[in-house]
Amino acid sequence: MIKSTIRKRTYRAIYRLLDRVSPVDYDCGTLCGAACCMVESEPDMEMGIYLLPGEDKIHRREGEGYRWTEESTEEFEFPESWKGKVFFLHCMNPPHCQRALRPIQCRTFPLLPHLTEEGELIMIYDDTEVPYACPLIEETLPLNDDFVKATTTVWRHLIRDPLIYDLVKADSEDRYE
Ligand code: SF4
Ligand code: SF4
Repeated sequence: MIKSTIRKRTYRAIYRLLDRVSPVDYDCGTLCGAACCMVESEPDMEMGIYLLPGEDKIHRREGEGYRWTEESTEEFEFPESWKGKVFFLHCMNPPHCQRALRPIQCRTFPLLPHLTEEGELIMIYDDTEVPYACPLIEETLPLNDDFVKATTTVWRHLIRDPLIYDLVKADSEDRYE
């Protein structure tokens, strides 16, 4: 499994911080039928989220409502430095899951971390190609200030890890042209 410099207690603090915020002050799943959790309804697709390096440290696995698999980083578009395996969590009953257990990638959606060419970390609307439309992104609906601040704080911590920095940097560079 690929290595992480982020401690278990830091991941705990990150989860706690993100537990307190939501992108908007209402259940945005009512706008779209929880589209971002329901990708498995597409043919040949199963909803799942990969964990960041070391994020598995705070999961018990048993009884959490996910099927765990280990995936080779070579099969996904991870940076060169990501050598080995990552954990992938398959959601067993989307869109229902235990809120306190959602992976970081779910918690900071619909924002993504982006490093500007000057090296500044900013949050942007997720521009990943997906087979659904998120109304928050499509209509660039304003997001809760506390959510934006918390996600920025969290990603500032996360990119102190060299592998996570490489991931954010590589994704950001793809947007420069
Ligand atoms: S984040 Fe977007 S796609 Fe997901 S439930 Fe909210 S509005 Fe729908
Ligand atoms: S973990 Fe929960 S929030 Fe994330 S995609 Fe699965 S069902 Fe949706």
